[in-house]
Amino acid sequence: MSMYPEQIHRMTTASMLREWREHGGKYRLEGSQCEECNEIFFPRRTVCGACNSLSVKPYRCKRTGKIEVMAHAENPVLAAMGYGETVPRMMAMVRLDDGLVIASEIVDVCDPQQLKVGAPVRMVIRKHVRESNLAWQYAYKFVLDI
Ligand SMILES: [Zn+2]
Repeated sequence: MSMYPEQIHRMTTASMLREWREHGGKYRLEGSQCEECNEIFFPRRTVCGACNSLSVKPYRCKRTGKIEVMAHAENPVLAAMGYGETVPRMMAMVRLDDGLVIASEIVDVCDPQQLKVGAPVRMVIRKHVRESNLAWQYAYKFVLDI
């Protein structure tokens, strides 16, 4: 075991500009809402996907929802993406209480029997991936809300 056992996600330098642009979505589940037709989106958009309106405002998504679909991720692609040391992991599509569907990971599962489609979950912030400068990126994940 080396001093830094976690796999490094990105071999190039992270873009601080992109980090800044996306931090609302990663830390606050901030999406977009169209001011014309009220459609909501996550991740954020600058153009409404329903009516093509340009008047789109930030929208704070609900932080609770239910598991819609889930799967054990043991895919070698995940290892290439930087998750090599922590597969298998439980990935899920979560339907938030406002109707949006988000792909995320379910963490902190103590009893796998409780992990089923329809189980209530809530958003948490967890370590996500590690950059080449050894800084951790954090992002939303979900835990069972039972
Ligand atoms: Zn619209």
